Amino acid sequence: MPELPEVETIKNELEPYVVGRNISGVTLFWEGMLRQPSVREFHSRLSGQGITGLKRRGKYLIFSLSSGDLLVIHLKMSGSLIVGKDSSEPPKYTRAIIRLDGGTSIFFSDPRKFGKIQLVKDKDDIVGKLGPEPLEADFTPEVLAQRLSKRKAPIKAILLDQGFVAGIGNMYADEALFSAGIHPLRPASSLSQDEVARLHSAIQQVLRSAITNKGASIVNYLRPDGTPGTAQFQFRVAHGRAKNCPVCGTPIAHIPIRGRGSYFCSKCQPEKV
Ligand SMILES: [Zn+2]
Repeated sequence: MPELPEVETIKNELEPYVVGRNISGVTLFWEGMLRQPSVREFHSRLSGQGITGLKRRGKYLIFSLSSGDLLVIHLKMSGSLIVGKDSSEPPKYTRAIIRLDGGTSIFFSDPRKFGKIQLVKDKDDIVGKLGPEPLEADFTPEVLAQRLSKRKAPIKAILLDQGFVAGIGNMYADEALFSAGIHPLRPASSLSQDEVARLHSAIQQVLRSAITNKGASIVNYLRPDGTPGTAQFQFRVAHGRAKNCPVCGTPIAHIPIRGRGSYFCSKCQPEKV
């Protein structure tokens, strides 16, 4: 699933193609991806609007429109936004096409059909309950410590909670916990000050490195130009890419935590400290 680094890459690489352009029309091949408003209202409110900005919040892409409306896209499990020409053959699994003036089209490809499109007036209807952005200045080790101190659930589950911190998913949670040497089942409130500081630094480091590498292409994620990212080659435990721990050689452990497969090294990330 695209996480913060993948969505940030898409935002960065899509921006020059869309900001300053007008939407000439949208085709929805799979109407189930539109959550609000109705299909009819969606088309009438979107057509002819200028795109004035593109931002990311958590795993959401937010297109600002000249009408004041916001077009909000979540790629969910398998979505990609691919830039092409109106005349291009749509990529496989294209569920929607956003056509822009000047002959550019954005193809929303989504094999698993979980992706969502919404058109709203107020972004807080959708992103208002998200936790802090992990790469912003207000996400400090102190803020992380204070938020963790109230939570008893396993740290892995807490990192995946978008209301706790925005944009981290299964891959980067596993990478950050490995980097910080913290077992994924540790109760969040049990982390020492030193461990919180290590985790904070690890979260920022793994996300920044993945953005530099244009996101991780494990299954479906592609950049807007249709090419894969390379962040997966930096992974040390996520997705079980390594059979053995790259630090100590112990076989990588794999357990479900709240239904999500979690990879870690039981020696570098001891459960009892
Ligand atoms: Zn190890």
